[in-house]
Amino acid sequence: MRANVDLGYATVALLGPRRLTQRLRGTYQRAAAGVVEFGRPDDLSEESLRGVGFAVVALPAADANSQSNANANANADAGWHRALAAAGAALPVAVERVAETTSGSITLVGGGPGDPGLITAAGLDALAHADVIFADRLAPEVTHELAPGVRVVPVGKRPGHHPVAQSEIQAQMIQAALSGETVVRLKGGDPFVFGRGGEELVACREAGVDVHVIPGITSAVAVPEHAGIPVTFRELSRSFTVVSGHDPLDERELEHLAGLSRSGATIVLLMGVATLPQTVSGLTRHGLAGDTPLAVLEKGFSPDERNTFTTLATAVVDTAGCASPAVTVIGPVVDALTRGTRTGPTGPGSGSVARS
Ligand code: SAH
Repeated sequence: MRANVDLGYATVALLGPRRLTQRLRGTYQRAAAGVVEFGRPDDLSEESLRGVGFAVVALPAADANSQSNANANANADAGWHRALAAAGAALPVAVERVAETTSGSITLVGGGPGDPGLITAAGLDALAHADVIFADRLAPEVTHELAPGVRVVPVGKRPGHHPVAQSEIQAQMIQAALSGETVVRLKGGDPFVFGRGGEELVACREAGVDVHVIPGITSAVAVPEHAGIPVTFRELSRSFTVVSGHDPLDERELEHLAGLSRSGATIVLLMGVATLPQTVSGLTRHGLAGDTPLAVLEKGFSPDERNTFTTLATAVVDTAGCASPAVTVIGPVVDALTRGTRTGPTGPGSGSVARS
């Protein structure tokens, strides 16, 4: 829902059954200074209405064919007006017909690799219409694109804070959608690339929630690109493999990757900083040449981004100070655009680091 009213500094009282008022809540929260909800006419009193400047009676959208429904609505409306009068409240009162069939939804939005300019137009549109946004740590900061009053729930791990468990995130966003809210789950990169987007989609479907996915630009391609590394390059690499380094790779995977790399594939590691020493020694053990170029690209698209260019043989020493989040690229494409020009402190194997 999108607010299309502006009630300035008034507090609004939403009157009606909770299943209806909660559908209006987000809209009025964005439009007014405050919102209070009343489920029963008996709850209205001079005291409970103090500070309220506007009231909205929430009625179920009338079924055109049902006279009894129309009568029930007329009675409910009259009941609320009587209760307002009895409480001594002389307020402007509006009536909202709330369609009970429209429930909330969840849209998984790929936020791209960190630069707010790299989220899609469809993603921005979803954000602009959201009642609540569950944002991952690596999702871009896009607060300037949001409607006032939208709730932003940070669920990613931040220094000094515990992450919200995956099952808890899913439960919270499903609950919000079932209560009628338009939910956006904003993720870093693309939702389906190591983003647990697939799991979340399945959980939403199982809960009977309307769910959509908007793709995002994955860091696996964009972060290398930003550092001047094309993941494919004619005559150097005609495939690339994106691997999770979250857990150490086993022997079969290392052997397979070494083989792919020897045949010209680019290896892109995500979440691979902590396990890089094992990956490097495993690839070396399985025959990958020590002079194979390797780059660790930290915090791409942020003011703290840092790119380290080295080789397989020197990687462990050269990248000892590197930290997550980082994308690691292994293969000749690392030098494809800079052959002979990346010299001095940024040169491969130099053991030093370039800040761009
Ligand atoms: N769905 C995301 C990836 C999630 S896994 C995507 O498509 O990009 C998280 C990993 O992505 C991080 O550990 C890191 O390897 C990588 N990553 C994401 N954003 C990054 C950035 N801005 N700079 C460097 N690495 C990044």
